[in-house]
Amino acid sequence: NAQGPRPRRFMLKLSGEAFAGGGALGVDPDIVHAIAREIAAVVRDGAQIAVVIGGGNFFRGAELQQRGMDRARSDYMGMLGTVMNCLALQDFLEKEGVETRVQTAITMGQVAEPYIPLRAVRHLEKGRVVIFGAGMGMPYFSTDTTAAQRALEIHAEALLMGKNGVDGVYDSDPKTNPGAVKFDALGFGDVISRDLRVADLTAITLCQDNKLPILVFELLAEGNIARAVKGEKIGTLVSD
Ligand code: UDP
Repeated sequence: NAQGPRPRRFMLKLSGEAFAGGGALGVDPDIVHAIAREIAAVVRDGAQIAVVIGGGNFFRGAELQQRGMDRARSDYMGMLGTVMNCLALQDFLEKEGVETRVQTAITMGQVAEPYIPLRAVRHLEKGRVVIFGAGMGMPYFSTDTTAAQRALEIHAEALLMGKNGVDGVYDSDPKTNPGAVKFDALGFGDVISRDLRVADLTAITLCQDNKLPILVFELLAEGNIARAVKGEKIGTLVSD
């Protein structure tokens, strides 16, 4: 048609752990810069990219709970940790010449916009990367679930789940079992019945109910974000 093809819109979920790299500090700027370069390249190619970043490099609520903290309060710490990752990514994306907006589910007007879905869509349409921080703002949820929910709300066509140190979904843990077999494609039902650790169950069932495909891939292999966006055969595709 006269307006050309509809731009493709993706939700990219980035592992918080990957942001730490091998360093002792929470965020390794070199890693974040490398990820930003890859995102910038796909945005320049015309894809619309929204991002959710985990917070595993700072705090996970469940882990703090095991050490005696109140779960909800430690989940809030986890959510606040994700915001630091968002700001780091925002900075390197801007250095790459990409406009960005961070929107957080817990309002903090000095550092980010509040989460306003329609405004997020407008940013995407203008070629800005929108980075969603502070999860869903609710304890007992994960950033995987946040990524699925935001993906649905902004009508992303797929959830691209970039992992740290694993290039897809395996039948057993490839870090402990050298004979583990990787799946190229899986149904949501298989993921659930075989208890495969793609994401937490809340995220999986949300994607299943709404037919949102998930691509699980290795985040830190150079060029992989572009491959994921182009639909090349990498990682594991989880769909109906
Ligand atoms: N979190 C939460 N609600 C949300 C999203 C995140 O309570 O909607 C908290 C939760 O404590 C979680 C932490 O933030 O452990 C960090 O997120 P996550 O564990 O998903 O990070 P990842 O493992 O992907 O790095």
